[in-house]
Amino acid sequence: MSTSQAAQKRFGGVVKTKPRSERNRVLVTGGAGFVGSHLCEFLVNRGDHVICIDNFFTGSKDNIAHLLDRTNFELIRHDVVEPILLEVDQIFHLACPASPIHYKYNPIKTIKTSFLGTMNMLGMAKRTRARFLLTSTSEVYGDPQEHPQTESYWGNVNPIGERSCYDEGKRAAECLTMDYHREHNLEVRIVRIFNTYGPKMALDDGRVVSNFVAQALTNQPITVYGEGTQTRSFQYVSDLIAGMVAVMDGDEIGPFNIGNPGEFNMLELANLVKEVVNPNAEIVFRENTADDPSRRRPDISKMRAKYGWQPQVPLREGLALMVDDFKRRLHVDA
Ligand code: NAD
Ligand code: UDP
Repeated sequence: MSTSQAAQKRFGGVVKTKPRSERNRVLVTGGAGFVGSHLCEFLVNRGDHVICIDNFFTGSKDNIAHLLDRTNFELIRHDVVEPILLEVDQIFHLACPASPIHYKYNPIKTIKTSFLGTMNMLGMAKRTRARFLLTSTSEVYGDPQEHPQTESYWGNVNPIGERSCYDEGKRAAECLTMDYHREHNLEVRIVRIFNTYGPKMALDDGRVVSNFVAQALTNQPITVYGEGTQTRSFQYVSDLIAGMVAVMDGDEIGPFNIGNPGEFNMLELANLVKEVVNPNAEIVFRENTADDPSRRRPDISKMRAKYGWQPQVPLREGLALMVDDFKRRLHVDA
């Protein structure tokens, strides 16, 4: 099932395409990335007029190539750190590297993207009176002392550490979003996304699920960092898209946690990938990175109560759903 089919199924079967005159003009920043490309596909199929802007730092034209000949899709190469003038009704603001190796590669650019990029998009929202949705992250909780994490938890972030360009960047972006709301009465939404995986993740992304699946498929050792006891909660991308769209179209600012509460440690994940992808794969241990959060699991009561939203795809099923896409891109035979 494609992401857009899965997300559409959640909304009760067929999603009617709106007549051209009623099309919502929706901007997706970072639309050529992993999550953004799935979101663009969903919105284009729903009938919105979608403008995707991306500087292709971690995204790729391949991710949205199948949308380029659709009349309600436009692609603009642009860096959100610079202002841009567009007329839109909704802005999904995703532009920002999300994988630790990518956001640490040029940390100053990362925090500029988070702060200046968000400021520019909020400025556009103010000028056009568009509704603005910020894709924040579970990283705002840092190495959490509260478990599972509710939206009311303020977090435990090292402000001077290697991850802070991303974590503090997103915290500043949340702050700006709320200040634009309070100062200018802007309609804003904030979602805090927990670890998400699925087809179209960059192969060189370095995130744990894409690493493990690619390693298992190419008969390389699965690299577990540290002792593998640190936990994460993994969400399949179609569940995220359904949640993000519900929040954008709903009437509450948030923040809302969007994630799958199924919690796994990295050794358990490695063994599950072995089971689903390649039983012969070997597991090896490598030194962990600095400030790695020791555990993370979303409390999703708020999304459940407000939108009846909850994840539909368990990890075992989701891993199987990304294998074909990874095989094709890694040139691995069936
Ligand atoms: P990704 O790296 O695949 O996508 C990010 C996209 O933004 C890429 O296409 C990239 O080229 C683009 N981009 C980066 N800097 C830009 C800039 N200055 N100007 C224009 N475009 C720029 O990451 P993703 O997983 O798709 O994440 C999308 C958003 O969701 C990010 O904001 C991320 O922080 C957030 N998020 C993702 C996850 C996850 O697990 N995937 C978890 C928490 C939050
Ligand atoms: N990780 C791992 N092996 C890898 C890549 C990551 O064990 O090849 C671990 C990493 O140390 C972290 C977890 O997986 O504890 C999630 O890392 P990821 O980079 O996917 O996301 P984040 O740290 O941002 O949650």
